[in-house]
Amino acid sequence: MDGRPRQFGTLFQFVTAMWSRTNPGVVSLQTSIFSPEFDLLYCSIAMTAKSRSSKRAKVKSARLRAIAHAELPTRYGRFTIHGFQGRGPQEEAVALVRGNLRGKPAPLVRVHSQCLTGDVLSSLRCDCRAQLDLSLQKIGRAPSGILLYLPQEGRGIGLMNKLRAYELQDGGMDTVEANESLGFAADARDYDFSAKILKQLGATRIRLLSNNPEKVRQLERAGIRVIERVPCQPRVSRISRAYMRTKKAKMGHLLEGM
Ligand SMILES: [Zn+2]
Repeated sequence: MDGRPRQFGTLFQFVTAMWSRTNPGVVSLQTSIFSPEFDLLYCSIAMTAKSRSSKRAKVKSARLRAIAHAELPTRYGRFTIHGFQGRGPQEEAVALVRGNLRGKPAPLVRVHSQCLTGDVLSSLRCDCRAQLDLSLQKIGRAPSGILLYLPQEGRGIGLMNKLRAYELQDGGMDTVEANESLGFAADARDYDFSAKILKQLGATRIRLLSNNPEKVRQLERAGIRVIERVPCQPRVSRISRAYMRTKKAKMGHLLEGM
């Protein structure tokens, strides 16, 4: 590198140092990585990129963003898949949509929280995959509907904490005791983000596939009219029965025959 970029580089370092006093989050990275071995062009690009991503973050925090949509043929029928982003990794979801969501009858909606062990790995500890299959079947046959899939693994505590909770359950606790002994609520999920997506899709009046009265309450509080709760109770294995009984007894889930 010749001396000229180094001089500009020193000037740039001075300017960024001054600016960082008023914009600490924006410039601190550039000033800390700068040295005479880095040239001016690199720093300018880095700073511009950082400024743009900072602006993007502000826009993201302000509103829900529809990222993309595409056709999604599935074994349950043809859907359109929509991607949405809100403020953070917890606010990222996909919606599988079919039919006219503003028409009659009201769309059949499932708000499903991700379960890697159940949905993907076919675990029988819970009924998540069975509920997902049943929901897609029912929505696939309905005139219109939405399957909203949210990254709220382990009822909102995350995958690693869910595995910690499983370990405690293997030692004799039930699912609620395990979550609480790890310092979490029995159910840490939040449905405000789901309500925002439903509103953006035009589905403010819905028939909700769910056994969970708390989900109905939260969606209604967030401005979604749940005109009917449609039970979502597939046949489940004997292994998951203890889990289902705990959901009924301790979390108020509406389950028949448990
Ligand atoms: Zn599950």
